[in-house]
Parts: sequence; structure tokens; C-alpha cells
Amino acid sequence: MGKVWFVGAGPGDAELITVKGMNLLSQAGAVLYAGSLVSQAALRWVSPSCEVADSKSMTLEEITVWLAGKAGRHATVVRLQTGDPSLYGALMEVARPLKQQGIEFQVVPGVSSAFASAAAAGESLTLPEVTQSVIFTRTEGRTPMPAGEDLAALASHHCSLCIFLSATLTEQVQQALREAGWAEDSPILIVQKASWPEGEQVLYSNLADLKTDCQAAKISSQAMIIASPTLGAKNWRELKKSKLYAADFAHRFRKIKKT
Ligand code: SAH
Repeated sequence: MGKVWFVGAGPGDAELITVKGMNLLSQAGAVLYAGSLVSQAALRWVSPSCEVADSKSMTLEEITVWLAGKAGRHATVVRLQTGDPSLYGALMEVARPLKQQGIEFQVVPGVSSAFASAAAAGESLTLPEVTQSVIFTRTEGRTPMPAGEDLAALASHHCSLCIFLSATLTEQVQQALREAGWAEDSPILIVQKASWPEGEQVLYSNLADLKTDCQAAKISSQAMIIASPTLGAKNWRELKKSKLYAADFAHRFRKIKKT
């Protein structure tokens, strides 16, 4: 019996897969990829003899059946997922039935689109004395939000918010941030298809204009919304610096430097 590897393909750029993920793709006897989300470019690492299928039109059950069937014939089977498999990836829904059938599985992490989006815009999600926390969340769609996790409650922390799966729900995002007391001119970053070979779009907006700006830019899917007090720091006149690199701060690898 083979093993099923849930591999994070990264956000779009084929080179943003891990070396481990790339090696597994080249060894795999069968690969099932999420065609609606994973860039075709990721398949360049697959060997010519590999069985490749797109899960775009499959149900969760069909996905499990496909993976289990291939694990009966190949030592290495890969389920290729977008970004990191642990975020909004239906990982448990597929992995548990495999485990119940005695098929071993392992997860290889990937670069999440949250990080690719921050990178595309040259932004940092944490800054000393601005915010030291990041929340990965979404607005309520067909999947209900558990109690205490509605966006307004999370936004009340005024930290960095990476909002997935919400490009068409910008009005809900605006409403939640307003409820949490964010100012109308709070900067908001929207990145569509971060790192993709084609179609990447980096858009700066603010709370007041979020919906109209997204509509004008025709952003409706595969977009990350980042609301954060850190946005734009590269253009700020002043910035509190990290203690780690401060000349008057000693640690295990460096003594205090006199200036
Ligand atoms: N596991 C994935 C998220 C899957 S949910 C990850 O770690 O990134 C799908 C949502 O992720 C999309 O609705 C969008 O909000 C975001 N997303 C995925 N790829 C993206 C990309 N290249 N650029 C911007 N957002 C992306």
C-alpha cells in the first residue's frame, strides 16, 4: 500500500513549492491537483509517466476514492493543494477516510497566499509597537462562522487580518471593520492571484472605498484581503525598530555595540 502526501503547492508561482514537495511530485506515480486553484505551472515537476487528474469537478468522496485507488498501485501519491494544506483545504475531510482504510498520509506545508500577498506588496504583517499578531480568517459564506469568530469580533483586536475567501463579500468586510471601530481611511490591501505567472494584481484601497475599488478592478476571486495597521510602512517617515537588531540590545549571538 502506498502513501498519500498532501502537498502544499504554494500560492501560484511554481518555484514557491518546497524542495520536499517538488521531489515528491517528481517521484509520484499519481497526482491529484485542485485545478481551479493550483496553477498549471506546478505540474512541471511531475514525471511524464505519472497519472495526473484534476479534482475540480470531483466531490470529496470521489477525491478520497481516487487517492485510495492510486495508493493501491503506487508507492507515492500526491494530493496537490493550493497554498498551505492546513488552511481552508478540506484536509481532514479527505485524510480521515484514508486513515480509516489503513492508508498512511503525511502533510507537506506550503507557502500560504497570505504570505505571498504580503510579499507581492512588499509589506510586513507585524511591526514593533504597531501589531504583533496576525489573524487568518474569512467572512461567513456557505460555511458558518463559529460563535465568537465573526469578523467584527476579530477585527476589534486591531491587528493584521488576512481575510480569505471573501473577494465577493467586501461589503461584509467593510461592515465588520466599521463595527470594530476601524477608521474610514484605514488602509486595506487586496492581492489577486498573488505570485501567479499571469494575472497578479496588487491594489491598495481603504475601508471607505473597498467595495468600489474591488469592483472597478474586477476582482472577484482568488484574492486576499489584508487589513492591517502595518500597511504602507515602507513609506512612513518613522518606524519603531525591532529590538533584536538594536545596537544597545545584547543577545546570545551579539554583544552591545557602542556607537
Ligand atoms: N490553502 C490556501 C487557501 C485556500 S482557500 C492558502 O494557504 O493560501 C482559497 C482562498 O485563498 C481564495 O479565496 C483567496 O482568498 C486565497 N488565495 C488562494 N490563492 C491566492 C493567490 N494566489 N492570491 C491571493 N489569494 C489567494
